[in-house]
Amino acid sequence: MALELVQVACRGDNYAVLIHDKTLGVTAVVDTPAAEPIMAALDQRGWVANEIWTTHHHGDHTEGHLALKARYGSVIIGPRAEADKIPGIDRSVSDGANLRFAGRDVLVIATPGHTLGHVAYYIPDEGVAFVGDTLFAMGCGRVMEGTMDDMWRSVRKLADLPAQTLIYCGHEYTAANARFSLTIEPNNPDLKARAAHVERLRAQGLSTIPTTIGLELLTNPFVRAELDSVKEAVGMAGKPASAVFAELRERKNRA
Ligand code: ZN
Ligand code: FE
Repeated sequence: MALELVQVACRGDNYAVLIHDKTLGVTAVVDTPAAEPIMAALDQRGWVANEIWTTHHHGDHTEGHLALKARYGSVIIGPRAEADKIPGIDRSVSDGANLRFAGRDVLVIATPGHTLGHVAYYIPDEGVAFVGDTLFAMGCGRVMEGTMDDMWRSVRKLADLPAQTLIYCGHEYTAANARFSLTIEPNNPDLKARAAHVERLRAQGLSTIPTTIGLELLTNPFVRAELDSVKEAVGMAGKPASAVFAELRERKNRA
């Protein structure tokens, strides 16, 4: 039976995700932006946070760690390179590690850029990845600790997952990302259609996440920085994709 995934909205625009295996009765939580809404979502279902998987050390991804651990005895897992900054960490992991959860492989993928140690968690058997603040719907995270090249490589690494892979990210930034993306590719029909759909979802207060790699390949200019059409759109025909990516990221920072 497939894992049950529950997205929990926290602090306005953050998301945590509960990952539950019904057969074994075990649950993992990806990131803890705030303890209260996550505990409420767990308690309502009679679930216990057996594990917490941390994408990176920022407070809006780790604030609930100690409260959840105190309540449920959660084992806290996170990137080795940031272990000293992750509250209550029990087990540190790095690129290529396999966590194994509920009989499935859970592969750790290093995705530096937003932070130096940032990781994503990928469950191939379920076709789902939890990417924190690396890849967003029609956007990507700010480059805060690593280099633009680091972030470009991380974004591309995620884009190389199978097209149908479901992507859960750390924030509901989709509407603002769509508006920015349209300034880059105003004539991209898939982007225009998606932006309109996102407006409708947000008007109803609905989540736009998860996305898929396939949808990002069609509509996310950061993922598409290697396409001639995107290079031309920012006046950088013939330039390397990483430089085009950097230009896009700088434009978004100013937007
Ligand atoms: Zn962050
Ligand atoms: Fe964040």
